[in-house]
Amino acid sequence: MMTKAPAPPSTTHLALPFFDAAHHELAEGLLPWAASQEIDEHDDRAACRDWVQRLGAGGWLRYAVPGSSGGALERLDSRALVLLRETLAFHSPLADFAFAMQGLGSGAITLAGTPDQHANYLTAVAKGSKIAAFALSEPEAGSDVGAMAMRAEATPDGWKLNGEKTWISNGGIADFYCVFAKTDPTGGTRGITAFIVDATTPGLDTSEHIDVMAPHPLATLRFENCVVPRTAQLGELNGGFKLAMRTLDIFRASVAAAALGMGRRALAEAISHSKNRRMFGQTLADFQLTQAKLGEMAALIDSAALLTYRAAWMRDDAEQRGAPAVGDVSAAAAMAKMCATENASRVIDMALQMHGGLGVKVGTKIESLYRDIRSLRIYEGATEVQQLIIGKSVLRG
Ligand SMILES: Cc1cc2nc3c(=O)[nH]c(=O)nc-3n(C[C@H](O)[C@H](O)[C@H](O)COP(=O)(O)OP(=O)(O)OC[C@H]3O[C@@H](n4cnc5c(N)ncnc54)[C@H](O)[C@@H]3O)c2cc1C
Repeated sequence: MMTKAPAPPSTTHLALPFFDAAHHELAEGLLPWAASQEIDEHDDRAACRDWVQRLGAGGWLRYAVPGSSGGALERLDSRALVLLRETLAFHSPLADFAFAMQGLGSGAITLAGTPDQHANYLTAVAKGSKIAAFALSEPEAGSDVGAMAMRAEATPDGWKLNGEKTWISNGGIADFYCVFAKTDPTGGTRGITAFIVDATTPGLDTSEHIDVMAPHPLATLRFENCVVPRTAQLGELNGGFKLAMRTLDIFRASVAAAALGMGRRALAEAISHSKNRRMFGQTLADFQLTQAKLGEMAALIDSAALLTYRAAWMRDDAEQRGAPAVGDVSAAAAMAKMCATENASRVIDMALQMHGGLGVKVGTKIESLYRDIRSLRIYEGATEVQQLIIGKSVLRG
């Protein structure tokens, strides 16, 4: 069960100059909506479907696609994505997951799809009537995407896919998968092409679920002589690696925002608990040691927030002006992702410590946050990968 949230954190961050009127309007509607939703999340697959349906009915999935395909704003707007993910993750990391995957799973179609592909998939994604997934990783190709082994071979009318993808979020419940496969096995990252594969395509097996410490729909996909039409090709031949990276670039700052939401929730739980827990004749919050910890947690969160909003603003600004970015957008997103996920892990750990035994009791909010945050430091580029992106940018000057 999604547990009732303590009072939401202050919304003063919305007054920061990163946000404009459209973001204020979004936040004003979203905050009460998110606080009013309760879903039994014991069955993660059923809960995820339910969240997608509710997020679609609420109009929030319209922020996961561009205006030309039924989206709320003209383009995928990083600041809107950030506000949505931060707020949803504060209330339910699974709701955030359901939202994020609609965007990530269809992002490559937004960026490179034909008008027909836009019409067939994006409108349904915005309504919540089709569930999306992004299938890049393989057992031997995680951080090292170029090592992927999955093959796509041309046939007279289309493509034949053979191989395996793993760690695929929404695997088993998705209606379609954006799949990346080698079309030129000697070409390294320049030999990869993207395809849209409908879940019902013969030769695609999505039945192997993967159980993880913070349950959400996740599967290994097997492709055995899985034939898709020529129209399933997404973007340029052998342009798949760039397309995958451009898609991940849009969503990287939003992973930071999800971590921020979880970190803010942990701080709110820690404040509430420390004010109520009595020991040695006073409350836990009366101890200076507690106040120092809360101060550190708040600073860790605010520093992550500023990096996250900056990264989102930089990307939107560069897109809107159609001009070279002010600074390195990718490095800013990498900094945000690295700091927000690492800081949130630290904050949640500190909040758990303040809860004493309750912090490790299965079913408490802090216990689930402790599990929920962990994979954010691994997926969409592990912390070490972000360090390298930032390091290279610094060396470039
Ligand atoms: C919950 C979850 C959901 C996921 N969802 C999806 C999805 O929807 N679609 C998808 O395609 N993939 C998904 N993934 C896969 C994810 O992107 C990979 O797990 C990630 O890229 C890391 O790959 P790997 O697990 O193979 O680890 P490896 O690549 O083996 O890396 C292991 C560790 O090595 C370290 N490392 C990596 N690179 C370097 C380096 N250059 N120098 C030093 N150390 C390094 C890091 O600490 C890293 O964690 C998901 C993963 C998880 C855990």
